[in-house]
Amino acid sequence: MAKVIAIANQKGGVGKTTSAANIGFGFARKGKRVLLIDADPQGDLTKSLGFDDPDKLSDSLTTVMTKVVNGDDIAPDYAILKHAEGVGLLPSNIELSGMDMTLVNVMNREHVLEAYVEQQREHYDYIIIDCMPNFDTSMLNVMVCADSVVIPTQAEYYSAIGSMKFIRNFQQIRQHANPKLEIAGILITMNQGNTNLSTQITQELERTIGNQIRIFNTRIPRSVKVAEASGYQQTICEYRPKNPAAVAYEDFLKELMGDAG
Ligand code: ATP
Ligand code: MG
Repeated sequence: MAKVIAIANQKGGVGKTTSAANIGFGFARKGKRVLLIDADPQGDLTKSLGFDDPDKLSDSLTTVMTKVVNGDDIAPDYAILKHAEGVGLLPSNIELSGMDMTLVNVMNREHVLEAYVEQQREHYDYIIIDCMPNFDTSMLNVMVCADSVVIPTQAEYYSAIGSMKFIRNFQQIRQHANPKLEIAGILITMNQGNTNLSTQITQELERTIGNQIRIFNTRIPRSVKVAEASGYQQTICEYRPKNPAAVAYEDFLKELMGDAG
């Protein structure tokens, strides 16, 4: 039965999508069956896997959630795009931004995605969900169906504040919506190890929340090759496996698997 891991932070541009892709493909390289879910109307994960024009896709996370709302049957492979590396992708596009309104009048509106994910668990080892940077009802749906959350954070001030905000929301989610939800930990991304600011922010995170929340030892270094790889619609691990960021994502995966099994 799949573990469901959400990659989330309310701050934009912190490396959520990059981390979701690298984690998903990393698990697939280890022979695991992986479903990536793009839960961001920007469709960045969908694009980064080579599906250039998500808005043209007729089936997506939005149509899946609409089917759940309507009580329609969903075949296990409905809407799932197969990537060459054997990873399944449930894509998203701009239509997801209308989901919030659709769900307003739905009973149990925060459990719609959960109904779908529960039926997919038996088909995968890992379901990795790339989240949007804001917190609406679709995002709440992700938090209700996930087992754990990885919070990518840049070692800079606003990013750290975004993570704190997310952690406050997380406590409410646990109280009211999903008591089983765990924070796997904070993953420092785009790290520039030897700058004063990054050292200071990391120490500050460790001081303020390090005793409650794990800060992964592995930090993903900043490398222009990571952004370059997206241009080739590859993860850094496929594009430049020896690049320090690729090595770091591999190390991070070992740390994550230590507790994700
Ligand atoms: P959003 O909130 O918009 O969804 P995000 O948190 O998903 O953003 P990404 O899209 O993963 O963030 O990353 C933002 C940008 O930073 C992208 O252009 C990506 O290629 C780049 N990037 C991510 N990780 C690294 C890294 N380690 N080194 C250099 N650039 C990186
Ligand atoms: Mg993203």
